[in-house]
Amino acid sequence: MNTDLIWSKFLDKIQTEVNSIVYATWFANTKLYEIKDNIATITVPMEIHRKHLNDSYLNLIVNTLFLITSKTYDINFILEDEIKKETNLTTDIDKTDINTEKLNFKYSSNLIKSYNFENFVVGNSNKLAHATALAVAETPGETYNPLFIYGSSGLGKTHLMHAIGNYIEEKSNKRVLYISSQQFIDDFVKLGRDKNNYEYAEYFKNKYRSLDVLIIDDIQFFSTTPKTQEEFFHIFNILYNDKKQIIISSDRSPNDLKLLEERLKTRFCWGLTVDIYPPELELRKNILRKKIQSSNSLPEISEEVIDYIASNMTSDVRHLEGAINRLMAYSFVMGCNEITLQTAVEALKDTINKGTSEKANILKVQKVVADYFQISVDDLKSKKRSASISFPRQIAMYLSRTILNESFERIGLEFGGKDHSTVMHSCDKIKSEIESNNEIKNSIDEIKKNIV
Ligand code: ADP
Ligand code: MG
Repeated sequence: MNTDLIWSKFLDKIQTEVNSIVYATWFANTKLYEIKDNIATITVPMEIHRKHLNDSYLNLIVNTLFLITSKTYDINFILEDEIKKETNLTTDIDKTDINTEKLNFKYSSNLIKSYNFENFVVGNSNKLAHATALAVAETPGETYNPLFIYGSSGLGKTHLMHAIGNYIEEKSNKRVLYISSQQFIDDFVKLGRDKNNYEYAEYFKNKYRSLDVLIIDDIQFFSTTPKTQEEFFHIFNILYNDKKQIIISSDRSPNDLKLLEERLKTRFCWGLTVDIYPPELELRKNILRKKIQSSNSLPEISEEVIDYIASNMTSDVRHLEGAINRLMAYSFVMGCNEITLQTAVEALKDTINKGTSEKANILKVQKVVADYFQISVDDLKSKKRSASISFPRQIAMYLSRTILNESFERIGLEFGGKDHSTVMHSCDKIKSEIESNNEIKNSIDEIKKNIV
């Protein structure tokens, strides 16, 4: 039997052994490179495949290969672009699923069922985050702990975290809790307020400390409350030492969480940190196709329309979903049974001509802001620190981040080579100004109208 034939038989067999997501993520893109002496060399796309196949599927691979070839092979994984081979052997995977005793109090995981791996579309910009998430879902507490996922808003962090939680809940009876930083703070503040409420204190303690998987979203909002950080630190340590899985998300990397205590940052980096980027064109198209497929109420949509939306909405997935919803509403109201390019242009004219179109870029933001404050774009990019210049500069940075979803690094570069932490600080500052000062909020709304 040649290697291709062996491998196609192998994959057929594997498909019957694992679920379709596991298959698509870990096996579909593998190949049998060669089979020689007693070593089978398998090519894999990324380092994470090598690690995870080794850690979790080695026995399955060896046994399946045995079924096909009647021989037991040692397995060697190599990366697609790796010439050098290395033999990598581990045995005996301990897969015992220890079920912690369930405590008796009211409890909800907060998981949203519709955020799952099945409907998460994978492309270049999120494939590492996705593969890591699935690895954690398959072996919680064992591979990457904590898992820290970061990236700008609307790119699928929350979706992935729920997907991990749902997967674990389905496959085991582990106790999972998804919680936003805000919810955690609320719980904690309530604890402080009801100091004498012994029952509540017990509840709080149990709620967090008896978990198998803690998922905490948008940790950047933790920043200002040292006491909450203290409590979280304790909970983190207890869970971590017990090998319970912790999953955290943020809009920036652990090291860029300026107001977070050092000791927490350090802990966040103990496991694995992965980032998720804005979707590339192909992924945007695939996401649109998937969303259209899963909505029953949309009429036929041509590739031309998908092309049009994907090329014009370049920032994040939330906007793509917004476009689909608009198309749905529009076609319903207009009673269309087919969405032509013309219908799409008409339905999306407010969205596509504004905001997310490629026409709005950092330079445009700079021009509009400079005009508004009657200074020059060069001033914005300069090192001048007078308030009349630095304040508009901070606003322009904030708008580049919130409207265009640009990375802190990129914004820094476009503003005369500022450090990304300066940009981050500016964005945070303007955000809190908007929340506390109505006049500033109104000016910024005014400026936004001229950009989008
Ligand atoms: P974030 O938490 O990063 O701000 P979300 O997870 O809330 O982003 O994603 C925003 C929306 O986009 C959600 O409705 C989510 O289901 C959807 N989404 C994001 N990425 C994908 C993807 N790769 N495939 C399918 N849907 C996605
Ligand atoms: Mg989110």
